[in-house]
Amino acid sequence: MSEPLVIVGNGMAAARLVDELSKVALGRYAIAVIGDEPRLAYNRVLLSSVLAGETASQDIELQPPSWWRDRGVTLKYGSIATGIDVGRRELKIAGDESIPFSKLVLTTGSSALRLSVPGADLAGVHTFRDSRDVDLLLTLAAQKKRVVVVGGGLLGLEAAYGLAKAGAVVTLVHLMDRLMERQLDAPAAALLKSLVETKGIDIRLDANTARIHGDTRVEGIELTDGRRIGADAVIFAAGIRPNIALARDAGIAVNRGVVVDDHLQTAAPGIYAIGECAEHRGVCYGLVEPAYEQAQVLAQHLAGRAVSYEGSIVATNLKVSGVSVFSAGDFMGTADSEAIVLNDSKHGTYKKLVIAAGRLTGAVLIGDVGDALWYLELIRSRQPVAGFRADMMFGRSLTLHSEAA
Ligand SMILES: Cc1cc2nc3c(=O)[nH]c(=O)nc-3n(C[C@H](O)[C@H](O)[C@H](O)COP(=O)(O)OP(=O)(O)OC[C@H]3O[C@@H](n4cnc5c(N)ncnc54)[C@H](O)[C@@H]3O)c2cc1C
Repeated sequence: MSEPLVIVGNGMAAARLVDELSKVALGRYAIAVIGDEPRLAYNRVLLSSVLAGETASQDIELQPPSWWRDRGVTLKYGSIATGIDVGRRELKIAGDESIPFSKLVLTTGSSALRLSVPGADLAGVHTFRDSRDVDLLLTLAAQKKRVVVVGGGLLGLEAAYGLAKAGAVVTLVHLMDRLMERQLDAPAAALLKSLVETKGIDIRLDANTARIHGDTRVEGIELTDGRRIGADAVIFAAGIRPNIALARDAGIAVNRGVVVDDHLQTAAPGIYAIGECAEHRGVCYGLVEPAYEQAQVLAQHLAGRAVSYEGSIVATNLKVSGVSVFSAGDFMGTADSEAIVLNDSKHGTYKKLVIAAGRLTGAVLIGDVGDALWYLELIRSRQPVAGFRADMMFGRSLTLHSEAA
């Protein structure tokens, strides 16, 4: 008889795990997926494109209903898992019976952070995490509302762009002195700012939100330096927090995320965590690629193969049409590394390659991102670059051509 394997969360990591399991452990597990969103798993990354009107919401489903059926998966969506009884090996579900498991995988993702400032609970304060949020934001934009987006990272920029494109009047406020400071150095961030401003977005840096004004609804925000910005709505896009409550309440070790080992196993045997809710070697990833790599390793582990997850090298792409941004690896460099830089701000191009010990260790590209995947491959493979270092900046085809000559 198949072993009952229950997955909590019906997001991107869950869908990939089912896919990987069906390749390597077909029939070994009877899989049930419990997800609280009221729809089939969808590509969350594409919510930015849905907001920008570039993709239809119904087109972002990861798999059709038949795909889940064909794999014999019991799908419960619109269902919240409320507790884990580790000893009895049961998962409690709100308003429903508990279900037994032999193996349990937590893929509960993250929630958007809400700043704890006065006024944060007023009507008109929203986040940007799921498809219900996007429906709300599209309604605001259609009414040409004045919106302040708090946060100048990837999510904030994509929210601001989508809202502006859909008709809202958008101001983006960012705490730091540059945009996307976790992925870009100062020159790249300055170029990005000027490119995003051409999309009609007003960007305020060094802008620390002190309070949100309004009686019952948002009327504006005030920054700690006294600046005020009138607004009908505020969108928090200032970070995420892994959803760890289920694990923590069950007595499973958590830190920022649910702590897992190199088999993606939590401190409780037979209970695993992958994706944004997991913390591996002190790192919680906020991107989909690590979640997919973890899903692949976990499926193989559950199939009985000797594998382990060593961590991921992450890369970021901004999805703002006409503003191509790529960042990967150690983009700032250290005292022991060197950087090759091309800065042509007039033409909207910036390239920085960081080299340490004869290998490419980081890259930032703005404008021309055609070689992004090649640079990422060089970073991941740790291939020595001395043989083509001089030409590397000009891209893969020129480099390979000069190598061959
Ligand atoms: C707008 C946007 C744009 C993004 N763009 C990019 C990008 O360009 N590149 C990139 O790499 N990443 C991007 N991301 C991040 C990416 O979407 C996530 O890294 C990825 O979705 C993580 O997958 P996950 O399965 O861990 O979490 P999720 O996809 O969030 O899935 C978790 C699911 O678990 C459910 N859940 C939580 N608790 C419970 C419970 N108790 N019971 C039942 N269900 C529960 C949640 O509701 C959710 O449906 C973006 C995210 C957003 C919001």
